[in-house]
Amino acid sequence: MALIVQKYGGTSVANPERIKNLASRVARYKALGHQVVVVVSAMSGETNRLIALAKEIMPDPDPRELDMMVSTGEQVTIGLTAMALMDLGVKARSYTGAQVRIVTDSAFTKARILKIDDERIRADLDAGNVVVVAGFQGVDEHGNITTLGRGGSDTTGVALAAALKADECQIYTDVDGVYTTDPRVVPEARRLKSITFEEMLELASQGSKVLQIRSVEFAGKYQVKLRVLSSFEEEGDGTLITFEEEDNMEQPIISGIAFNRDEAKVTVLGVPDRPGIAYQILGPIADANIDVDIIIQNTGADGTTDFTFTVHKNELNKALGLLRDKQKDIGAREIAGDEKIAKVSIVGVGMRSHVGVASLMFKTLAEEGINIQMISTSEIKIAVVIDEKYMELAVRVLHKAFGLDKA
Ligand code: ADP
Ligand code: ASP
Ligand code: MG
Repeated sequence: MALIVQKYGGTSVANPERIKNLASRVARYKALGHQVVVVVSAMSGETNRLIALAKEIMPDPDPRELDMMVSTGEQVTIGLTAMALMDLGVKARSYTGAQVRIVTDSAFTKARILKIDDERIRADLDAGNVVVVAGFQGVDEHGNITTLGRGGSDTTGVALAAALKADECQIYTDVDGVYTTDPRVVPEARRLKSITFEEMLELASQGSKVLQIRSVEFAGKYQVKLRVLSSFEEEGDGTLITFEEEDNMEQPIISGIAFNRDEAKVTVLGVPDRPGIAYQILGPIADANIDVDIIIQNTGADGTTDFTFTVHKNELNKALGLLRDKQKDIGAREIAGDEKIAKVSIVGVGMRSHVGVASLMFKTLAEEGINIQMISTSEIKIAVVIDEKYMELAVRVLHKAFGLDKA
């Protein structure tokens, strides 16, 4: 007997038919003698619909109230899922994040899980129930409902698997595993049988939506056995996230390509080139809990320099406002924002032992006339910021140039 956490995304609960289908799979696992915890997302499109509705009332919605209403999408699907199980004669109970007590910090719309009370779930499992938990949501220490950021149901699933010391966490979605890149953008993309945890973490952090980054972080921290599978196919092993590099296999140089349209660029022009300037610019941004991704500061010329960084598009106006309030103190000539950017990243542990990876990337982009605005690297990643309109082209040509279309 194993304890399995199964997470089903929005398309897997999009209508009654699919919920019934999900329930049949859960029933089969249950019939094999396993204990099953099911985590569900809202029906596909529902979270977007709720956010749009909020914006009709308040263009920049209050974060606490936004979480209050956006979290209802998952409350609908847990009830429906439990009913679908009961209809098959399977004992089931559903819980919201607050009822489980998935305790988070108070960073509304992007809260982090601090702890999970597993007592209630364990008792229900021991009594023979399938436990259905709402993804994407929690409760802070003051009893406020919080949400975990877009794609956060993945994190609910993996965090529950960690808390319950589950034997496996299965992420059921609308593709049958992790691909070399998003198969919707590059039809030649191939499914990977396995991918190292490090690579998955990097792909997720660079925007590959198949797993939310925090779910991968949890899997790494608690060594959760994590697998991505199709909810539409009965067969298939999906993709396993592995913790050891298989050194008997020859590693490809690049394992995958991620892209991200969600960032915006902030440029602070003509700032005095003196100690403390980076802190003066980024301090207020950090104090406002705005995440910063790529940061670039040019070498100074004539005593001034330019400072550029990226933030989530949702937070661009807030970041610009904060900096413009302090423009005089900073001594900047101009503060500019650009939303029409995209980030494309190539990822692979094989990069460690190969030279010429960056030059092949830059040559491939140059041949298409794609200008690189920013570059950021780590040991196993090279990311470039380019004009948004070339994003898909860049992903396609890089996928080919690195031979990812070939087995
Ligand atoms: P769910 O609603 O099940 O959580 P998501 O839409 O969040 O599903 O994530 C699955 C989607 O991620 C796929 O439909 C695919 O378009 C996209 N995706 C992006 N990068 C990859 C990749 N490398 N491998 C597989 N899917 C990817
Ligand atoms: N429903 C939430 C979203 O759309 C959480 C999730 O699907 O993982 O972002
Ligand atoms: Mg998702």
